[in-house]
Amino acid sequence: MLNIVLFGPPGAGKGTQSTMIQEKYALKHISTGDLFRYHLSQGTELGLLAKKYSAEGGLVPDQVTIDMLKEEISKYPSVNGFIFDGFPRTTPQAEALDNLLASMGTAVSTMLALEVPEEELKVRLEGRAQTSGRADDADPKVIQNRIDTYNRETKPVKDFYQAQGKLKEINGLGSIDAITDRLYSAIDSI
Ligand code: AMP
Repeated sequence: MLNIVLFGPPGAGKGTQSTMIQEKYALKHISTGDLFRYHLSQGTELGLLAKKYSAEGGLVPDQVTIDMLKEEISKYPSVNGFIFDGFPRTTPQAEALDNLLASMGTAVSTMLALEVPEEELKVRLEGRAQTSGRADDADPKVIQNRIDTYNRETKPVKDFYQAQGKLKEINGLGSIDAITDRLYSAIDSI
């Protein structure tokens, strides 16, 4: 299997680029943020719980997120692989993903980390608010919290994959197509 962790701060382009990658390599795209938003739209208990954290720009607790991811993965027993978008966001989540994939006889193939400076992220997220309909894109305070949460809790996940020799940093500035090409080259070089 080809299992890709597409990593980066909020606004780095993970969702957009995941769509391109999933098509080219026939992977199943799993976005934990999309899953939480789906649950919220359905008014489930999980959706309401997630909203408490995401509305402020914080992270949903690890065990809740990991359980949701496990359930989602189990729905796709015969895919070529997965592209994980927005997961793992903490080191315990990364450990849980390793264990889960190991139990399936597979592993993370690579982490592709999109690098985008903070000022550019803010510009992108404020622009995205016009079309995304996401409350957490609309409020500059929440955007700042999401970036701070990334720096504090999520960035260390890079070290986890670097220690395994799986980290590839990708310049996340430029046109969407240029960034897609960089990601394809990184995947093809595995
Ligand atoms: P995203 O669409 O990836 O920006 O995620 C939106 C929000 O969902 C985040 O700000 C978090 O509150 C929550 N979320 C998504 N993925 C995770 C995760 N892996 N761990 C914890 N919370 C998450």
